[in-house]
Amino acid sequence: MSVDPSFENALSFAADLIRIPGLPGHEEAVSRRVLGEFERLGFEDARIDDGGNVIGVVKGVGSAPPALLNCHLDVVAEGDHDEWDFPPFGGVVADGALHGRGAMDIKGPLALQTYTAAAMAGTAPGDVLVAHTVLEERGGLGMKLLLESKTVTPGVVIIGEATNGDVCIGHRGRAEVEIVIRGTAGHASAPERAHNVLDLLGDVLAAAGTLGADQPSDPVLGRATCTPTMVDVKPESRNVIPDLAVVCLDWRILPGSTDASLLERVAAALADRVPTVPDGLSVEVRLASEHQRTWTGLAEEKNLLTPGFLMEAGHPAVEAAARAVGKVDDVSRPAAIRPWTFATDGGWSCGVHGIPTVGFAPGEERFAHTNRERLDIEQARWAFGRYPHLVAAVQTAIA
Ligand SMILES: [Zn+2]
Repeated sequence: MSVDPSFENALSFAADLIRIPGLPGHEEAVSRRVLGEFERLGFEDARIDDGGNVIGVVKGVGSAPPALLNCHLDVVAEGDHDEWDFPPFGGVVADGALHGRGAMDIKGPLALQTYTAAAMAGTAPGDVLVAHTVLEERGGLGMKLLLESKTVTPGVVIIGEATNGDVCIGHRGRAEVEIVIRGTAGHASAPERAHNVLDLLGDVLAAAGTLGADQPSDPVLGRATCTPTMVDVKPESRNVIPDLAVVCLDWRILPGSTDASLLERVAAALADRVPTVPDGLSVEVRLASEHQRTWTGLAEEKNLLTPGFLMEAGHPAVEAAARAVGKVDDVSRPAAIRPWTFATDGGWSCGVHGIPTVGFAPGEERFAHTNRERLDIEQARWAFGRYPHLVAAVQTAIA
């Protein structure tokens, strides 16, 4: 190892990463910089996989199951630079904080996790895997591909999304569902020659309203929500009767919701409201999808469904995590256990693959995706100090 795995070096690595912008699908420069750091820190088997994820291993001394430390390589757009107090890609340290796009979401925590693994070399009770993934901000294609590839098989996953020092155990997922109405276009002066898709729009929106009012609830994650957010009508001319309308539903889903179960619920709500679709019109329900491409060139038509997940508060890994982390002002008392408000790649690791997953990182959620994004240095230093305890504790708890 040619770099000392200290907090100061982790912080300057984080500042460096902030200076390398990388929107989803454009993480190449960040990935290569992260790989270089893995190599400098002496990680074994450091590599970039087919999807552009960066992976490395730090060997443990015991036989506990491997823990996977995970952050993402992409960031969201920075918006107008004039609206920032500090330059978004400056990596400036001022007023006790690291500033810029990615400071807390997620390059700061990425650096802390990476340096934690390096600092645990030869002491961890099992191997420590580090995999930082692409396209998390677009639903997690990187994590999905990584886990499907089976090139890493962790016994437990620790996600570095902001928890403000708490232990996070899940979140709702998100799906985009489209209700597509098709008809026959025609001149607006002669409606009798067309089949106007808008004739059915009122009933479709009413069905969406019924569906939204009838959503399941979870005592920890709260209520699922489903609400229409957009109606796309084609052709767009005001003197043409349209033959296509697409109603988009934004659905914040509870864990366990599948493509099929969501589509079935929409179809049932529609069938209640519109038992017979008028002649000349048709209605189809589908999951929205998007063409995504990793910076390495892997392309996939990805369903817009990000799974949710929820760990039992009494799960041995969760209890061990809370005890190992402790509270900021008193580490002898267990950390608070709660869900995140936003979605993470834990939906793939735990929600889909069933791998115990917890989250821990410094940073206040309210600064994520804003032009005031920052990471408090003292909180980051504290979290860095707690991280090795956390990793060892969850590995031991699931052994
Ligand atoms: Zn994030």
